[in-house]
Amino acid sequence: MRPTTEFLRNRFRLFNSLMFGGELPEVPLVLSRSRNSLGCLRYRCERGPDGKKHVRDLRIAVSNLCDREERTLEDVLIHEMIHLHILHKGIKQNGPHGEAFRKMAADINKAFGRKVEVSHTDTARERQSDDRFELHIIIVLKDDGGNMMFSRIARTRVMQVCRGIGRERRLTLVGLFATTNKFFLCVPRTTTPRFYTIDADKLMAELKDATRIDTNTI
Ligand SMILES: [Zn+2]
Repeated sequence: MRPTTEFLRNRFRLFNSLMFGGELPEVPLVLSRSRNSLGCLRYRCERGPDGKKHVRDLRIAVSNLCDREERTLEDVLIHEMIHLHILHKGIKQNGPHGEAFRKMAADINKAFGRKVEVSHTDTARERQSDDRFELHIIIVLKDDGGNMMFSRIARTRVMQVCRGIGRERRLTLVGLFATTNKFFLCVPRTTTPRFYTIDADKLMAELKDATRIDTNTI
């Protein structure tokens, strides 16, 4: 099945009362066309006039690009709800899938017979089935809220995109990478880049074997 917002809302309420003691705030649940992540908790951080950090535009996005088993979609939603819980409670942990995340996922899996994964490995399986060999140019950015983003860009547009980023005060260029990792095959390559928010540690794992391109040489 493909998720609808009604399906997500219905399951969110059910899991919230069942697994999170009804303590999670009702955040917008939206559909995405993402190929690279099945689910994502999105938000921005802003420093308010009081000097404190405020979370803005908090929402959970679930991809409806492909057909999935209903239980897989539910597990993806629960995964994002754990992220929401950790953020909402201000729990500190080492990385987005740190100790608190892992413990909570394990507890839920045990108590409710779920298969909530720390990373969504079925996308890994899907991308293994595609054995085309291609060099991808990946640009990695950070916004002023510290969110990591990436885009796959056409080789002919690299210079133009880098210059455009230099003009955006909100964005910092983290690096430019060349990689043959099939993970990036799923990401549409466009001339006007679309940026995808991603867990920093997940992205760095995918770029482990990539070659860093010196941006001064382009
Ligand atoms: Zn996650």
